[in-house]
Amino acid sequence: MSVITVAAGQSVCSPLPVLGRDVTVPLVTGGEVTYAALDYAASAPALQRVWDDVAAYAPYYGSVHRGAGYLSQLSTDLFENSRAAVAEFLDCREGDQVVFTRSTTDSLNLLATALPAGCQVFVFETEHHASLLPWQDARVTYLDAPRTPGQAVEALERALADRDPYGPALVCVTGASNVTGELWPVRELAAAAHAHGARIVLDAAQLAPHHPVSVRDLDVDWVAFSGHKLYAPFGSGVLAGRADWLRDAAPYLAGGGASRKVARRADGGVDVEWHTTAARHEAGSPNVIGAYAIASACKALTEAGFDGLVARERHLIGTVRAGLAEVPEVRVLSLFGDEAPRVGVISFVVRGWNSSHFAAALSAEYGIGVRDGLFCAHPLVRTLLGGDPQDAGECGAPDGGTTSLNAIRVSFGAGTPD
Ligand code: PLP
Repeated sequence: MSVITVAAGQSVCSPLPVLGRDVTVPLVTGGEVTYAALDYAASAPALQRVWDDVAAYAPYYGSVHRGAGYLSQLSTDLFENSRAAVAEFLDCREGDQVVFTRSTTDSLNLLATALPAGCQVFVFETEHHASLLPWQDARVTYLDAPRTPGQAVEALERALADRDPYGPALVCVTGASNVTGELWPVRELAAAAHAHGARIVLDAAQLAPHHPVSVRDLDVDWVAFSGHKLYAPFGSGVLAGRADWLRDAAPYLAGGGASRKVARRADGGVDVEWHTTAARHEAGSPNVIGAYAIASACKALTEAGFDGLVARERHLIGTVRAGLAEVPEVRVLSLFGDEAPRVGVISFVVRGWNSSHFAAALSAEYGIGVRDGLFCAHPLVRTLLGGDPQDAGECGAPDGGTTSLNAIRVSFGAGTPD
């Protein structure tokens, strides 16, 4: 286990300080150690900057778009400026909308309700359940796991070539896998989608915290991501991109804020004129602190620059992988091979160990927090472990045996010690 102890109890060395680095935890072997959080892919710690920004604003929040008072005005300004900051962070096109949601899952479910009638959806079986499952009410084509990025593009090309060329279609793809950390060929998949008249939504939940995401440059139609994975753990997410499908769809939630005008009809019913802006899908009092926190994280990441983060993360990935390679019992899970570019998310199994027991031992004996299970990507993990992708299993459930049918995941980012 020498590979993992590199992270325990060492000093912070990051251009972007995060919170929670000073938590000490008791060990079953006696004594205590500084907690090593290596589960960024689930939820990353808050950036100090995000915390400071939120703390400065939190005592003064008011209702958004609903009040004439000073604090309401302030909150409305912060909320709308946050929207603009996110649009800038994502390099959105003129006319794109930024909708604040609760999370990536929420964003993709929102988009699923906005699909035009008859829309066909294409999704790889390798996706996180948040991008695999929201399309159940559409005609979905599930694509088998590719073994190279090139195969992914070819498989999508083939599937799209077979589709009804006149009907609407959507491709949903993740930018970076939450299991292997591997980067997907988003630009090429977007080109393939567009060449066949389809649209594409990028699940950037794992990509955005590690790499710049440009809607314009990648030429994707929508992007979804979560604040709590982007160092802004305040319950908010984003769906950004083309306005038309969103504008034509029924509001995601019906209620105040989404409606512009409501009047009783002569026949006793109610006529509603809905907003055509992002507000259409943001009914109810919005999570202004969550939106502000996301914007703060976006600005902090942009100001720090991704180059340093990427270089440092590459170093950390190399260190962890080299350490794991020294342990013959360890098998690192990979779809595209060892050389594939990836973010700081590494999953593995240890021969002779149940992954859940292994993760529990890391926590109890070393104070290291990792994730174990199937990572809400059951078909992918089963494929990688050589099991049957059609076999169902509970998210994160231990198999109870001595060998692993689930895996261990280590993930890191800004603030992870070298
Ligand atoms: N997509 C990917 C690739 C993820 O890793 C996750 C979460 O782990 C999600 C979507 C869902 O994110 P959330 O739980 O914030 O909705």
